[in-house]
Amino acid sequence: MPAQPDPEITRRYVEDGETINAIAAGIGRSYGYVHARLVSAKVQMRRQGGGWTAGCRSRWADLAPCGTIAAARRHHRRKEPVDDACREAAAAYLRAYRQRRKETQDADAR
Ligand SMILES: [Zn+2]
Repeated sequence: MPAQPDPEITRRYVEDGETINAIAAGIGRSYGYVHARLVSAKVQMRRQGGGWTAGCRSRWADLAPCGTIAAARRHHRRKEPVDDACREAAAAYLRAYRQRRKETQDADAR
């Protein structure tokens, strides 16, 4: 049976920036248990050693993780290479923004 995503594990990994080892220790489970749940939640894995994704030099300690609009903006601001996760986040943000604008304009036209 495939592992079910665990919102708590996902939140701690993505939002709090905890490592898989730290989460596993925190909930008294194995590394494999946590890893399987992150995979099933389709979470983008960070490499061991601090980098978020290939091509991304941000550190998780004090910065927004890759795959967020904040991280994408940071890359642009610092003229860093933008990785796929951040590019996708920025594109999704732009799509949502345009969608909102369109809805507002449609409402005005009525
Ligand atoms: Zn990034």
